[in-house]
Amino acid sequence: MNYISTRDVNHKVSSSQAVLDGLAKDGGLYVPEDLSELKLDYKEVIAEDYRGMAKKVFGKFFPDYGEELIDSIVTRSYKDKFTAEEITPLVSVDGRYILELFCGPTCAFKDVALSALPNLMSEAAKLNDFKDEILILTATSGDTGSAALHGFSNVTGIRIAVFYPDKGISETQRLQMVTQSGANTKAFGVRGNFDDAQTGVKRLFQEIPRPCEGVSLSSANSINIGRLVPQVVYYFAAYKSLVDAGEIKIGDAVDYTVPTGNFGDIMAGYLAKQMGLPVGKLVCASNKNDVLTEFLETGHYNKKREFYKTSSPSMDILVSSNLERLLFFVCGADKTKEYMKSLAETGEYQISEDELSKIKRDFLGYACSDEEGAAAIGRLFKDASYVMDTHTAIAWAASDKYLRDCGLQTKNVVLSTASPYKFTGSVLAALGEEASGDDKADMERLSEITGTEIPGPLSAIFEKEVKHRDIIDVDEMMDEVKKYASEGKE
Ligand SMILES: *Cc1c(COP(=O)(O)O)cnc(C)c1O
Repeated sequence: MNYISTRDVNHKVSSSQAVLDGLAKDGGLYVPEDLSELKLDYKEVIAEDYRGMAKKVFGKFFPDYGEELIDSIVTRSYKDKFTAEEITPLVSVDGRYILELFCGPTCAFKDVALSALPNLMSEAAKLNDFKDEILILTATSGDTGSAALHGFSNVTGIRIAVFYPDKGISETQRLQMVTQSGANTKAFGVRGNFDDAQTGVKRLFQEIPRPCEGVSLSSANSINIGRLVPQVVYYFAAYKSLVDAGEIKIGDAVDYTVPTGNFGDIMAGYLAKQMGLPVGKLVCASNKNDVLTEFLETGHYNKKREFYKTSSPSMDILVSSNLERLLFFVCGADKTKEYMKSLAETGEYQISEDELSKIKRDFLGYACSDEEGAAAIGRLFKDASYVMDTHTAIAWAASDKYLRDCGLQTKNVVLSTASPYKFTGSVLAALGEEASGDDKADMERLSEITGTEIPGPLSAIFEKEVKHRDIIDVDEMMDEVKKYASEGKE
């Protein structure tokens, strides 16, 4: 099975080439050429442990790697990196289920994919006889940066630079990045907000000649299919846990509520459903930035709206890149190209009634405010002694609205994307405590009042040496990248 661009079905590459490129040359995203080829017997998948499930799922999506190599990639990717034996444990909370995706080295769900992507990429380079060194450039609003730096640290043949908004992230997120070791890693603070950093990175991709100093550029954002596929696995893992616990019978549909930003995580759920997993509805939870909620309701995507900074910052987004993949599956390449052109030129597009009703078979959206999220954190702690982070809370509040509208006909799994200790100030405030603004003291306070432990990787950041001190302007990014690319070369 090959991959094609969402904007041109004639642009075809192998799965390993798709991982290597990240984005297709025409600006489209890579998708499997034929979804029906992904079908498998999910009962066989859920009979395996997490690694076994990952091997089966990866095998379908990445056929040109071969079975032996997939085995070795999965084993390397998930060995000794996650604190939970099950990798993504499912806990029963107050009649619903929370899928804890934050047990990896940087305490957010992005670790699940960024533990595997470096291995997928370095093996793809070998398979395609790719001689250049690879330089990963990534703009981050916080969580991707630390997970990507950690994942790519000390991977041979690859260097990585992340760009974070100097003032736009939490102190914990900043310390996670600037203390990251590995001779092949660099973190730059950019004077400006996330959009400035992201626009700057997009410009680097357009303007830097390739290869530059024998280095080729690639991306670790969720536009890369190699980031999406590892996330498909935990939809199976949640289903397996429900079956094993006797909560459902094999064949029962399960709904998943997903805190959504770039539409990557929820897209993985759609792919799991295409593979044959009995997924019911995929509930797309948004914060006050409700562009996806409106789209799923009306078919009108409109980015010309105010941008709000919320207490779930990893979901503060106006252009959800992975939605393009869904558009392709529902509308085809020509329409997708037309809609994306309209989005770029006018800031909006409208899909047809027919296309919208197809999307509504699988998806629905709810938006929740910071206040609704905070109330959910307080309530769940009071009723069930469970502490969740601000992103998970938006999803929990969205599943409240879903249950209000549709009733509890199917089991509901809420995806939990970060440890509450990554967003300690907001979580403390939601529990009625005053945050001090000092993340270390606030973590200790949160631990004290909830009786939960501070995750090891987060308590360690306050003691680690700061390795990355560069704060730069957007127009210095080009020179810094060129300098970094030529380091160690004559
Ligand atoms: C990135 C992120 C999200 C959004 O995920 P997408 O795949 O971009 O939709 C939600 N929660 C947290 C904590 C994140 O880091």
